Amino acid sequence: MKANDTTMGQLADEAPLNGVANAGVLPQLLSALRGIVDEAGLLLGEDVSSRHPGVFMSRIEADVIVRPTTVEQVSQILALCHEFAQPVVVHGGMSGWVRATQTRRGDLALSLERMNRIESVDLANRTAVVQAGVVLETLQDHLQQFDLIFPLDLGGRGSCQLGGNAATNAGGVRVIRYGMMREQVLGIEAVLADGRVVSSMNQMIKNNTGYDLKQLFIGSEGTLGVITRLVLRLREQPSSSNTAMVCASSFDQIAKLLRHMDGALGGQLSAFELLDNNFYSVNTAAGRHQPPLPSDKPFYAIIESLGSDQQHDAEMFARALEKGIELGMIEDAVIAQSERDKQGIWDIREDLEHIVRDFQPFYAFDISLPVGDMEEYMRLVTERLHELWPEGSIAFLGHVGDGNLHIAIGAGQDEDREQVEACVYEPLARYGGSVSAEHGIGLEKKRWFPISRNPIERDIMHSLKGLLDPQGILNPGKVLERAAGEGGE
Ligand SMILES: Cc1cc2nc3c(=O)[nH]c(=O)nc-3n(C[C@H](O)[C@H](O)[C@H](O)COP(=O)(O)OP(=O)(O)OC[C@H]3O[C@@H](n4cnc5c(N)ncnc54)[C@H](O)[C@@H]3O)c2cc1C
Repeated sequence: MKANDTTMGQLADEAPLNGVANAGVLPQLLSALRGIVDEAGLLLGEDVSSRHPGVFMSRIEADVIVRPTTVEQVSQILALCHEFAQPVVVHGGMSGWVRATQTRRGDLALSLERMNRIESVDLANRTAVVQAGVVLETLQDHLQQFDLIFPLDLGGRGSCQLGGNAATNAGGVRVIRYGMMREQVLGIEAVLADGRVVSSMNQMIKNNTGYDLKQLFIGSEGTLGVITRLVLRLREQPSSSNTAMVCASSFDQIAKLLRHMDGALGGQLSAFELLDNNFYSVNTAAGRHQPPLPSDKPFYAIIESLGSDQQHDAEMFARALEKGIELGMIEDAVIAQSERDKQGIWDIREDLEHIVRDFQPFYAFDISLPVGDMEEYMRLVTERLHELWPEGSIAFLGHVGDGNLHIAIGAGQDEDREQVEACVYEPLARYGGSVSAEHGIGLEKKRWFPISRNPIERDIMHSLKGLLDPQGILNPGKVLERAAGEGGE
């Protein structure tokens, strides 16, 4: 994917979206909005177009950005939009990668940025109640004083919002230990397209009273409702942490090591991140990051454990790695001896700048499939790509412990995007894999959605959309929704 890719922008801009009116935000609607939010709550003209457009998008085309501060305001705004059949695109921290926040002329963008209060932290229950616009890192920092953590963690932590994390069911590097966002949310308050407020602010881990309605909104990418508040599950702050980088001669060794470490660390394994040689070599080239291990092995992994007794856990961690070497699962390992070492190791994984610069045109993918099928899949995709572009570059990395691979490709020309995508997505069908492990569908992956969801699943999704948003005003045209005149999604 290319940042500021205008080609992609035009494609979406020109497409009619679900038949929803898109003729410009009506003057009557605008004047009614002025009666709901204060002056700072309504942005127009230059104040809209000069804002950060979001990842891989060139500019915000919406006519207006509305910035409410309360759920009552969100409710009134949506009731109005419902009445006027006004398309609404929710804007969180704008860190998503699938153009799910893209707007067109005539759209109204609803930004949660002013609903950014951490309302309470309940120490006994280990929960936090937050407004949806709280930035993930703000909550992480706030919890330090209580020796608690909110375990979701990802590279976009400084800008993404907890509402956005819920709307995308975000994953990140600690999923293997704590699960995805879905597992961290106990309760939700969301506003439906017609303005009705669904208050499902459950505080308990166990609550089996009928359908779990909050799950409808988690991962719905702003198409079923606007999330305004969340009850989040917190965990104890781990007091020990150990990090290592290892290298292996085959993917099979990495897969065996994953099982071995999970067993040997007694539940402490908190991250297991794969980097293939291509990715490792790009980021550890001269003048970039310091390589902890020589760059002559096909696979590398970052392994992290979180526990409660530094001396004991460090010994257990080192023993587990030694055993891994003894059993022939890894060729070598380096254990971080300081916070600086740990950061150095993580920087090699999290720094995407070099690969984006080196691989041109740059495409990024986020898929998942069973770990046992990964090696064959990686080989297949590489072969397909090299058949078409023998000089093309490809690198694999990702949260392999969760069956999640990220793929970086530099091949062909901008106009070859569809063919590059086919190389990555089509082989997934045979493994029952997913075209989106954690970033969602947005506009970017709509076309490939049927690879991962069968007709009956898609039908139920359409029915839910029709039930909760009968006029189709919420994020029209995103995820699976059919555009007017389209036979299928
Ligand atoms: C450097 C970097 C690394 C990243 N790493 C990861 C990673 O490891 N794992 C991962 O999962 N993601 C990752 N991401 C992607 C991104 O951070 C997540 O998808 C994040 O959850 C998006 O949150 P946001 O607030 O920025 O949402 P936005 O990008 O603003 O919106 C995303 C979608 O959610 C909807 N939405 C936002 N807020 C609400 C709300 N309150 N109610 C209803 N709908 C809403 C939007 O309409 C849109 O459809 C990364 C991003 C960056 C920049």
